[in-house]
Amino acid sequence: MQTIQLQEVGKIKEIKKSIAKITGLTRCMIGQLIHLSDNARGIVVGFSSGEVVVFLMGKVEEVRVGNEACSQMEPFTIPVGEGFLGRIVNALADPVDGKGSIQPRRSAKASVGVPTDIEDGVSGGSGSPDRYPVFRRAPGVLQRVPLSRTFETGVLTIDTTIPIGKGQRELIIGDRMTGKTSVGTDAIINQRGKNTICIYCCIGRTYSSLLKIVELLKEKEALEYTIVVAAHAASPGGEQYLAPYTACTLGEYFMDNGRDVFVVFDDLTKHAWAYRQLSLLLERPPGRDAYPGDVFYLHSQLMERAGQYSPEFGSGSMTFFPIVDTLQGDVTGYIPSNLISMTDGQIYMNTSLFNSGFRPAIDLGLSVSRVGNKVQWPAIRELSGMLRLEYVRYNELLKITRFKANVSERVSQRLREGEVLTQFFTQMNNEPYPPEQQVVLLYALRRKVLTVLSKTEIEYFKKNIYGFMREKFPALLLELSGKKDLTPESRRQLDGCLVAFFREKGMQIKGLEV
Ligand code: ATP
Ligand code: MG
Repeated sequence: MQTIQLQEVGKIKEIKKSIAKITGLTRCMIGQLIHLSDNARGIVVGFSSGEVVVFLMGKVEEVRVGNEACSQMEPFTIPVGEGFLGRIVNALADPVDGKGSIQPRRSAKASVGVPTDIEDGVSGGSGSPDRYPVFRRAPGVLQRVPLSRTFETGVLTIDTTIPIGKGQRELIIGDRMTGKTSVGTDAIINQRGKNTICIYCCIGRTYSSLLKIVELLKEKEALEYTIVVAAHAASPGGEQYLAPYTACTLGEYFMDNGRDVFVVFDDLTKHAWAYRQLSLLLERPPGRDAYPGDVFYLHSQLMERAGQYSPEFGSGSMTFFPIVDTLQGDVTGYIPSNLISMTDGQIYMNTSLFNSGFRPAIDLGLSVSRVGNKVQWPAIRELSGMLRLEYVRYNELLKITRFKANVSERVSQRLREGEVLTQFFTQMNNEPYPPEQQVVLLYALRRKVLTVLSKTEIEYFKKNIYGFMREKFPALLLELSGKKDLTPESRRQLDGCLVAFFREKGMQIKGLEV
């Protein structure tokens, strides 16, 4: 059957930075796609006295005043599919990695969970299942279920004390250069072989920092299951505004097909800045900190799209790690406090911890995860129960005793335990720990094995115990990852394993002999 495509042609009247005003388009809606040239497109963001206001995207330099602008009364859609894996795309989902065009390719599995509202005209798609609308409606309550599976980041501090569930939104917040991006990339690297699709969305970061991330992902063989959506600092403002929605939409395709998706937005402060700049150019009234009034809506409509689908909708999930920059540790800033209120917890990165060498510099006093601990491995939950409190108490004690030369035996013992805990949490970036390794490390900490070791010995232990177990105790590792819980038998075996490890090194640990 032949379909008739209606088209309306207008004229570009004015261009200001990456904003254009178009006359002659009478039937337009917000969020609609406008064709401006072969490589440039626009998205409708407002109307003013008979003119349509659009943000320009793509090859903005091709667009000239007086050119034609074409509207097909279609919502802004992008192609989605398996073909995007391993590719770098811009906010229009066009490839920018020089590897040629992308064939979206549908997954072999039929789409099971596409909610019905995709088809509806305003928020929905153009009808083709291979194109999704960028501003798609978030899944409704009835399509979701509570989080039930743990999302393994591989960062010991996070997995033990601030556990994340699949479908959760966890804000990463901190000053400049505190290791925020590293937490996100560590989590991506850790998804290797875990059947999770990762999306790294770069917004307003420098081109060189984007290249570094891509190189890192390539080196760690993580790019093959990752999509990079890039709107770096030199991209048009409109692309920076659209990029997180594009990343989310590319992820939704996989989520609809019952897969798990993980998205890092790096970072939403720059996203808000880009939107503020465009709004001020549009002469919209500035509000608090000169942001437009709808900046809260900007981020909340994005955050709502994370979640865990119910089994009838394919059980797919989408986990978000939005990153936000603070100025001098001020979490009460407008954008940070907005995002704190719309996420399920935050990981707070602290500059002074980072400078003191405690890396990842996660401030355990201010970081929370509101939903993740229900889905943690029972073994990790049991072993890490009081860990966070112990660490916070140690920090307080450290402050009080800093200038005192003589402290009691008990206090110095607690300080020693605290030092061990600090060393226990310290972890290099790009070296994620699998959960079995975390159980073993936690077990050794709980058995107070680490307290009798020197600094270099703890380092040696953390580095080598997992390799040793893989070689000598593979069955125990299998049991730990299978049961996810500690039985009396596995405890006995863990003791035996620790004794064997230290015996090989010529050390005897009291209280462990079995
Ligand atoms: P920006 O504000 O520039 O985005 P950021 O907060 O994202 O910075 P990163 O880029 O992740 O911080 O990290 C800053 C530096 O710290 C990098 O050089 C990185 O290699 C180093 N770093 C991050 N985490 C760790 C870690 N756990 N151990 C050692 N070095 C780390
Ligand atoms: Mg960063």
